[in-house]
Amino acid sequence: MIYCPGMLDFQTCETARLARDPKYDGVFFVGVTTSKIYCRTVCPVRQPLAKNVAYFPTAAAAEAKGYRPCLRCRPESAPQSPAWNGTLSTVVRAIRLIETGALNGGHVGALAERLGISERHLSRLFRKHVGASPLQTARTLRLQHAKRLLDTSELKIADIAFEAGFGSVRQFNATFAEKYRSVPSRYRARRRPAQRAP
Ligand SMILES: [Zn+2]
Repeated sequence: MIYCPGMLDFQTCETARLARDPKYDGVFFVGVTTSKIYCRTVCPVRQPLAKNVAYFPTAAAAEAKGYRPCLRCRPESAPQSPAWNGTLSTVVRAIRLIETGALNGGHVGALAERLGISERHLSRLFRKHVGASPLQTARTLRLQHAKRLLDTSELKIADIAFEAGFGSVRQFNATFAEKYRSVPSRYRARRRPAQRAP
């Protein structure tokens, strides 16, 4: 059992996971230590034993620890942001700015300045409340944005890369392959027949 700081207590997570409680969908994520996959609480896949479970406050925290998103429950489609309830407003503002591309150029110092705090303080807040650094968080948010577009739009791969804030298609391909073990074009080609099925 692994437990991340800045989270709900372990028993609450455990009870919510076993009940597949939709109230906690997006509030925390469940990692399976043996497969290194992370899921939403509502995932339909067979549930792991408690000793093989890791709980994370955010998808970014799970990914920062090397976990890959589940292809069944699609963590990127979990309800956005309930996890930020009760979290410092500075962190919430930072996340909003990251979502609109504030870190696409990688300038954490500039983001901190916009928030009126030091870069070191910003990193400390992220470690405590998000469980990942600002750059790791930006990386996860970009990939999630791209994955949603890949699943739900007919946009070209290059347009998705641009829309989600990747510097290049090559960067998008590499980042996607790391988490999904396939490049975006191959992933999409494989999904299409299934989506067309009645
Ligand atoms: Zn899952």
